[in-house]
Amino acid sequence: MPNKAFELNGTTVYPGERQTIDLQVAQLYTHTPLSIPVQVVCGKRPGPTLLVCAAIHGDEINGVEVIRRLLKLKTLNRIRGTLVAVPIVNVFGFIHRSRYLPDRRDLNRCFPGSQEGTLGGRIANLFVSNILERCTHAIDLHTAAVHRDNLPQIRVRMQHEESAEMARAFGVPVILNAELREGSLRETADKHDIPVITYEAGEALRFNEVSIALGVRGVTNVMRQLGMIPVKTGRPERKFKPAVAKGSRWVRAEIDGILRPVVQLGARVEQGETLGVIGSPFGTQDVLVTAPHHGIVVGRVNLPLVNEGEALFHIARFDKVGEAERQMEELVSEVTSNAELDPDNLPIV
Ligand SMILES: [Zn+2]
Repeated sequence: MPNKAFELNGTTVYPGERQTIDLQVAQLYTHTPLSIPVQVVCGKRPGPTLLVCAAIHGDEINGVEVIRRLLKLKTLNRIRGTLVAVPIVNVFGFIHRSRYLPDRRDLNRCFPGSQEGTLGGRIANLFVSNILERCTHAIDLHTAAVHRDNLPQIRVRMQHEESAEMARAFGVPVILNAELREGSLRETADKHDIPVITYEAGEALRFNEVSIALGVRGVTNVMRQLGMIPVKTGRPERKFKPAVAKGSRWVRAEIDGILRPVVQLGARVEQGETLGVIGSPFGTQDVLVTAPHHGIVVGRVNLPLVNEGEALFHIARFDKVGEAERQMEELVSEVTSNAELDPDNLPIV
């Protein structure tokens, strides 16, 4: 039995074909039409229809590079099922190097949207009805917000069995069992019972090679688990058993001031350990920022100028915290010494 054709916006992609289709969403004030570019890789043989999308937050660009590399992999020539790749969902934000839409709305709070609502709601609605609803699985690629950095991690609702399987298959050491955020693509996918994971890695408006390489590897790991691409032959890749965090907490600034962070992303910290110091420009009135519990630093602010109440360090708790730390170190050294994940063989430094 052959694969089914995929039809989008009046264009049909037949089994064995690959096409880039523009999904028209709106127009600029200039009346220039604006569209979301979508690449559909339709395999000859049947299988899942996997959505991989990035830049729902327009300034989160690591995922755009993950998808560029993914689409160059030769293994896609033998794909089972269909890959629907959307490197830039929030085209408005991407052009303006901004997380938001022109009306300052966050597209990832506008799902599932409606035909009559705000611009964000309309784009979300179009995306759901034309793309998401026709996929069987979804991976949404994100980074931390501007001036923040995330350790590569998967966010998932572990109670959804198939989503949990995708999260484990992705193969980064840290999984956060995260509540569904209202209005997010992940929430809408979950409501449609489409298994979905979010990959969070790196910082907005920056490329980070480790985050990108782990992203490409993670997406292909999931495709392998879903039977879309063949299992690798030859030297078996080392399997990492991801640690699922028991919970996580943001440590906030007690006072306004200038932060001197003393722990790196990925560091293992003990309860009460100093994470940083907030002081005044004259060096008086230093206030220590300490860890509320033991764990791994999975998110961090990069801009040292902080206001009271601002989230500074994101600490995830684990049963086996040493194990999670060791796996992350090994994985990072493996991908940094191995350029095979960039088909152009030019890893970004
Ligand atoms: Zn995001």
